[in-house]
Amino acid sequence: MGSPLQKILPGRGDKKGKGYWVKLAAVALVSASWGSLLFDIPLRFPRIWFPFTAVVIVYCGVLHQLSKRREHAIEFLYSIIVMSAGAISYFGLPWLQLAYFPFIIALTHSYGLKVIIPLSVLVPFTELRAFVVTRENIAWQAAFSLFLIVTAAVASFMFTRLRSERERAAAELERIRTSAFDRTQDTEMESFGSDEIITHYFASRIKADEEIRELLAAVSHAVVAESAHFFELNGDAYRLRSSTDEKGKVTVTGKGMLAACLRERKPFLSGEVNERSEVVGYLKDIRITSIIVMPVMEGSTPVGLLTVDSSRFHAFHEPEEKTVQMFSVQVAKILERERIYTFVKHDITAHRIIKEFSSGLAASIQYDVVVQKLCDSAKQAFSAEPYFFEHAGQGFQVKHFPGGITGDQKIDFGGTIIELAIGNRHKEYVSDVRQYGMRIFPQQFRPSVSRSVIAVPLFYEGGLVGVFGMVSDRREFLDSRQISLVELMCNQAAISIANARMHAEIERMATTDGLTGLLNHRIFQEKMTDELKRSERYSTPVSLLLTDIDHFKRVNDTYGHPVGDIVLRGVAGILKREIRDIDIAARYGGEEFAVILPETDGAGAKIIAERLRNAIKAEIFAADAKTLTVTTSIGIATAPSDAKAKEELIERADQALYHAKHNGRDQSVSWSAGR
Ligand code: GH3
Ligand code: MG
Ligand code: MG
Repeated sequence: MGSPLQKILPGRGDKKGKGYWVKLAAVALVSASWGSLLFDIPLRFPRIWFPFTAVVIVYCGVLHQLSKRREHAIEFLYSIIVMSAGAISYFGLPWLQLAYFPFIIALTHSYGLKVIIPLSVLVPFTELRAFVVTRENIAWQAAFSLFLIVTAAVASFMFTRLRSERERAAAELERIRTSAFDRTQDTEMESFGSDEIITHYFASRIKADEEIRELLAAVSHAVVAESAHFFELNGDAYRLRSSTDEKGKVTVTGKGMLAACLRERKPFLSGEVNERSEVVGYLKDIRITSIIVMPVMEGSTPVGLLTVDSSRFHAFHEPEEKTVQMFSVQVAKILERERIYTFVKHDITAHRIIKEFSSGLAASIQYDVVVQKLCDSAKQAFSAEPYFFEHAGQGFQVKHFPGGITGDQKIDFGGTIIELAIGNRHKEYVSDVRQYGMRIFPQQFRPSVSRSVIAVPLFYEGGLVGVFGMVSDRREFLDSRQISLVELMCNQAAISIANARMHAEIERMATTDGLTGLLNHRIFQEKMTDELKRSERYSTPVSLLLTDIDHFKRVNDTYGHPVGDIVLRGVAGILKREIRDIDIAARYGGEEFAVILPETDGAGAKIIAERLRNAIKAEIFAADAKTLTVTTSIGIATAPSDAKAKEELIERADQALYHAKHNGRDQSVSWSAGR
């Protein structure tokens, strides 16, 4: 601020500058005013003296106000006292001198000992005339002056002590602030994703509590309060997080000043809390008479309340309110740091889960395992409910869903958020479904939670593999970073799902026969080995049927090879249809089929063989415009009664089949019967 007067005010070192004369003029003017008191001028020439002194007061007042370090206070204040002394003698009201006491005491609030003590020493000099000239009431005047000096000294001393406590609190605050800053610096140097940062997070949370406690102690000291509290906001409610009082002493009652302060987002100060008409919002063992309630703001959002209270009347004023506000800013900083740590921690946890998910995926080539892993990892990483719809052929199939499914299984995503995601070939995230006029799922799906949703279509080489997503009961359950992570997981899952499908296809090709869809010869051999082992372990029989179509060459010759194929497929279909789930049908080779019948003895096998033979015989195959039927011969062998070893058992079944052929075909023969 560069007012012209300020520029000429005295600075160190320029004693003979213009400032020097301005200062000297102030001293001279005050001395003139005071000197004329001694000569009774106020009484004799009041019309000159009073206006002159008023000018002196204004001159010194302006000088005092404009000086950088609030200098010239003594000149200014003493000119006021001289004016009062003049008025007292003019109006003849000596008892008005008592007004010096409150005046001096009030000044101690704003001025230090360096001003108050000289001033109170100077006050008796206004009565110099009484001491030197009139010599009236000298003893009374002396006692008065002495008493005034003592009062000023005591008051000054007390206020100085209070102020030094405040300064100590401010220094304490500065220390806390710098140490908090140091801690932030520390963490920035940590490598992201390291274990230490998580440990650090927990340490930081503990430190936050500690720091808030330190701040409360400091603010309580600074404003001379009986206690200070910090209430943390949680949704619409608040809870006492920290207090200078012992635990359990403070009870949160809700409503009252705390609620009002939160609502209006501005501080609240009272020096006369009336228990009947005003409710503070919390109770403690002693009565609260004075209180400051300060909202703790993070930007424009209140995150808590800082309060200081006292049982004294009018314990706090504007300066105290400012102090409390300063502390509330510090509390907000601690909370912000704590919140950032929480975010970082969640991020790290999510990263870790996703890393595990990715490395786990490499090992899983099974479709269901991949989907399960994706759902489990997402649930863990983002604390939401996952869902997955598989897309195969033209339709969708539900693989994972939180909640009930009613109605038909045919899934039609028409008009849903999922349809939108598939159509746009891009993730769809709705942070609040209530404000979004669109269904998440088709009608028959009833999710357990549905406040917010993400839907990510999974594509692989341009083809839709499925739709993965999550639903949550929270609003805005993902931030932009987390959404990227979900997409990352989905990309990886899409690749794995495609791999799993390819793997399943290769496996199918390797184990089944391309024409009939039955297991191939290699797998038949493996299954036969397994079943014989099982039969031996559990002492149960197992039977084998070898089926051969009669005169199949003729079918080929008469109707052509393609019709022969149709017949083969038809016979395979009948076998599949007629046997139990535990039975195993395989294409043994050419137009020969094998059927393994676990836990079935010779008699049981004979019944099944006859049933199969009759079913095949009854089937009418269509060949172009004509129709045809075929018959089969079946050889039966049973373990362990007919043979124990695999090769032997197959050999016996083959021998039985040979018998059937020789006996006129269209029949089943048991090896034991044909011997
Ligand atoms: P039999 O009653 O003695 O069994 O007389 P058959 O004519 O069926 O004699 P055999 O079992 O030796 O004939 C096997 C024939 O099955 C030979 C071959 O042409 C035919 N065949 C083998 N595999 C296929 C195939 O995949 N498709 C078609 N269409 N025919 C096949
Ligand atoms: Mg044959
Ligand atoms: Mg044949």
